Amino acid sequence: KADLKSTILEMNKLAAKYFYVQLKSERGSQAYSYLKNRELSDETITAFGLGFSNKYSDDLYKYLREKGYSEDLIRQAGLINTDERQGVYDKFWNRVMFPIMDVNNRVIGFGGRVMGDGKPKYLNSPETVVFDKSRNLYGLNRARTSRKPYFLLCEGYMDVISLHQSGFTNAVASLGTALTAGHAALIKRYVQEVYLTYDSDEAGTRAALRAVPILREAGISAKVVRMDPYKDPDEFIKNLGAEEYEKRIHAARNGFMFSLEMLEKQYDMNSPEGKTDFFREVSRRLLEFEDELERNNYIEAVAKAYRVSRESLEKMVAKMAVNAG
Ligand code: ATP
Ligand code: MN
Ligand code: MN
Ligand code: MN
Repeated sequence: KADLKSTILEMNKLAAKYFYVQLKSERGSQAYSYLKNRELSDETITAFGLGFSNKYSDDLYKYLREKGYSEDLIRQAGLINTDERQGVYDKFWNRVMFPIMDVNNRVIGFGGRVMGDGKPKYLNSPETVVFDKSRNLYGLNRARTSRKPYFLLCEGYMDVISLHQSGFTNAVASLGTALTAGHAALIKRYVQEVYLTYDSDEAGTRAALRAVPILREAGISAKVVRMDPYKDPDEFIKNLGAEEYEKRIHAARNGFMFSLEMLEKQYDMNSPEGKTDFFREVSRRLLEFEDELERNNYIEAVAKAYRVSRESLEKMVAKMAVNAG
């Protein structure tokens, strides 16, 4: 088993090098232009080991076979697929390649992006004996040595890379999969604080709301950075620059207050009924803080943010407590 792991890591490393060489060759010129259009520098491309899986459908397979690896091993690395019609073919084909590294800089898997609007936009390695998606974070190999006491947690490869290129070397991503307790435990080894900088669309907002309690449970304080009117950190930085992004970090709301901002949208805050119903729900949520001190701190914060009297909010929470039995 230990042997299988190191063999797969070896193959992944060879594959990453292969993709990198392809990117830098004539064949990779379209992929290279793609990355240049996305404003990535040569240093960034090299630092993240970006590459290109070319148009020949069994190139990598042949290359690894020549290096002496069996079809079965290449399959176990998640680098090929087989079907009745085509036989064996490379999993990644005509895509820009993002090697995924673990904290020790070992290549554990890949993400591949189409260069146009094809589907799926990203293709990721399957889980293998070396690739456990819920226990690895993209960019952690670099973020771990950043001296900031917090991580910027984002959604995608391009967000991480763009942030690092702009000097935010503490950015990591959970790569399309929802944040798990495993991710939180991994983060906790390095920092006690996370700024969620997910996409500003509904999916990103929902993902941030789900991530907050997972981080809290691991003892990590979670804040939410707003990216609107842009889609994600990559686009935000390209349009407004690093300084504005830094300001958004400073303006970030704690997870609870962010969840209330989202909750507001479900109520008619201009009517007395709507507003009252909103505060009932807020009170219910405040009641979920088991620590009295923590609950009181949040009651104070909510009262201040929504300009209601602290006493009446306290009373409403107390009433909820009675009702809840
Ligand atoms: P780009 O900026 O290149 O368009 P993005 O990172 O903004 O990409 P999103 O659609 O926001 O792309 O997706 C965020 C992340 O989710 C991606 O970086 C990728 O890791 C993952 N992802 C997106 N689409 C897919 C997919 N079809 N299959 C698997 N993972 C995906
Ligand atoms: Mn998204
Ligand atoms: Mn993007
Ligand atoms: Mn995005």
